[in-house]
Amino acid sequence: MILKRLPAGIYAANCYIIGCNETKNAMIIDPAGDEEKIINTIKDLDLKVEGIILTHAHGDHIGALKKLKSYFNVPIMLHESDKYLLEDSNKNLSKQMSMEDVEITPDVLLKDKENINIGKLKAEIIHTPGHTKGSISIKVDESVITGDTLFTGSIGRTDLLGGSFEEIINSIKNKLMVLDDNTKVYPGHGPSSTIEKERKTNPFIK
Ligand SMILES: [Zn+2]
Ligand SMILES: [Zn+2]
Repeated sequence: MILKRLPAGIYAANCYIIGCNETKNAMIIDPAGDEEKIINTIKDLDLKVEGIILTHAHGDHIGALKKLKSYFNVPIMLHESDKYLLEDSNKNLSKQMSMEDVEITPDVLLKDKENINIGKLKAEIIHTPGHTKGSISIKVDESVITGDTLFTGSIGRTDLLGGSFEEIINSIKNKLMVLDDNTKVYPGHGPSSTIEKERKTNPFIK
């Protein structure tokens, strides 16, 4: 598996590129900004982009969405419960951030437990609401991309539209902490971790 982390955009959200070593098929997750950096990385790795998956629809994760969608001509995939955010620049906060307004209708609406093939890899969608209603985590092999649900040593905000502290704690405990201890955690901001490390040291989970 190829996994690249590219902090991008106004709040340095992590854009991830996940690709299959054998077939070179790839997905872009959270194109937060800096589209040229993302495009160049895809070219350097000689990957064939098949789609863009959003962990959720907040402005800081979608700064390069419009440009990459038209550059690669691929579908945008998002959990169905965040569709209303992606379509409204007030609700997705791009209007309030120092960036271009983003209002896009997603092409594919995702559901919990859905599987997406990336070449010979299988990405499993795990619905982890709480930061937003449609926040997802994406598990591929022994790695999980957690968006703004789970950070190293912290968790996402729950005071924004659709947020719920009770829901985020439920999502983390019942859907993420049940994964294997050695599963690598790749959050929407900041450095990576493991499920075991978060279970033992994250003050919101202990
Ligand atoms: Zn967010
Ligand atoms: Zn964020």
